[in-house]
Amino acid sequence: MSRIQDLAANLAAVRERISKACDAAGRSPGEVTLVAVTKTFPASDVRLLAELGITDVAENRDQEAAAKTTECRDLDLTWHFVGQLQTNKARSVVSYADVVHSVDRARLVKALSRAAVDAERSVRCLIQVSLDEAAPDEEGRGGVHPDGVLALADALDAADALALGGVMAVAPLGADPAPAFARLAEISHSLRAAYPAAKTVSAGMSGDMEQAIVSGATHVRVGTALLGGRRAIVR
Ligand SMILES: *Cc1c(COP(=O)(O)O)cnc(C)c1O
Repeated sequence: MSRIQDLAANLAAVRERISKACDAAGRSPGEVTLVAVTKTFPASDVRLLAELGITDVAENRDQEAAAKTTECRDLDLTWHFVGQLQTNKARSVVSYADVVHSVDRARLVKALSRAAVDAERSVRCLIQVSLDEAAPDEEGRGGVHPDGVLALADALDAADALALGGVMAVAPLGADPAPAFARLAEISHSLRAAYPAAKTVSAGMSGDMEQAIVSGATHVRVGTALLGGRRAIVR
């Protein structure tokens, strides 16, 4: 099979999973945006995915993302940044990202806002929440403690050139994702009481998109199920 046939088959299978999960949850598939996570895969794959109708693409490392977004500048895509973000990368990320899913501290809000103002861009920001009750902040996966979400939302709301879009989370490793996604839904609910427009819930990956959709995910971030296995990255 050619690469595009491969990707088309994977995409059909993922769309089918999303559609079944929506049926089971009494939701419409139109409520769930599929974000293709293309990290470690070449820009040529992004191009093929765009041909197949993908509109939203995500990367998790600035250097790779900067190169790939440049190569794909002619495509009309929405770019998401989903990786842990150092403040000294804010300037670069703001130059290509439409949505940043990994905002988890006030310092980062400041850095992103300053960079977005200077670049005359507007960036949608999601608050990444740590749902790992057992080991919050360990493993370096990022995310603010649930108790800190509202304060961070206030900071984002007040920041120039940034828009508060909602919340994002990664289910804890090795645990049942369902309770974590249910907790994220509660957090989103209280956030929306203060900020009704902050409707985005970015949750669910290749292994757990069904559970995330049941809990109200509006964006699923899918890598492996679309593009295949990633080779281990040696750093
Ligand atoms: C890599 C990545 C994904 C996609 O993971 P898969 O299991 O390959 O679907 C989703 N979210 C984030 C933050 C990621 O880094």
